Amino acid sequence: MNPNLIPCPYCCSPGHPKFVYAGKNYFHCHRCDLIFSPLSKEDVEASIRHYRDCYYDASADDQLSPPRLEIHEKILDLLEKAREPGTLLDVGCGRGAFLRAAARRGWAAQGIDPSLDSIREAATVLKGCVFCTTLNDFDPPGIYEVVTMINVLDHLPDVRQAVTRAAALLQDGGFLYLRVPNTLFHTSVFRLASSARILWPLRRFCIFHQCSLTPRFLRGLIHDAGLTTMTIKNAPLAGGYRSRGADAASRPAAVLDRSVYAVARLGEIISRGWILIGPSLEVLAAKDTDRNR
Ligand SMILES: [Zn+2]
Repeated sequence: MNPNLIPCPYCCSPGHPKFVYAGKNYFHCHRCDLIFSPLSKEDVEASIRHYRDCYYDASADDQLSPPRLEIHEKILDLLEKAREPGTLLDVGCGRGAFLRAAARRGWAAQGIDPSLDSIREAATVLKGCVFCTTLNDFDPPGIYEVVTMINVLDHLPDVRQAVTRAAALLQDGGFLYLRVPNTLFHTSVFRLASSARILWPLRRFCIFHQCSLTPRFLRGLIHDAGLTTMTIKNAPLAGGYRSRGADAASRPAAVLDRSVYAVARLGEIISRGWILIGPSLEVLAAKDTDRNR
């Protein structure tokens, strides 16, 4: 194989150099559409330590910010269009903000997270419902009607393993919900931001973690995990709160957020859901009992 090509961790096809971001090389697999940063065994171990020991300090405030809390309510709105509140597992629950919102709305919600600090705090309100563990190591007390992974999947080294495991935790007819940054948006902004120094501030809108996921990749991933895609669409942005009683300085950002989402929604509607260019995607997939027979 060409030394510039790196095997795709999902399908083993050659991954082509795509870009460098924050000192990491990213590659694109043309076959499955995954964009990934290669990981050594040591990198995986360092990543596990980071989420276990450091992630709380890096993200604690953001987890309880008004935009995040607004996102949680919107996710529950979507889930409750699909089914009545029931049993739910939130993978990567952090401090438990989504679980608390779900519990308020009648869900029997449990969560897992590798961060001991996060789980310790979440357990003060959600005693017995949160577990400090990873998806792979989790020994569930039962199976679930819904499993959620909110801005989690792109942090993981093995997305196939994660979604397959999440699917195994679902009861027949259950739903998997995913929210992830949309690669199509972030690579476009990154390309634009890299084109001229004056546009470099746009880089702060770019999000690239361990891997980067497109609508095409997500459709394949869901199918390969034995699930059926019910919905894949632009996820609502949570910047709207800034327009309501917000200070003047935050209004331009709110207008930009709303404009970006409006353009993305227009493309989605005109293309009947095939053109998805918003900053985030959300996926709702069902465990189809007939398909797995
Ligand atoms: Zn691939």
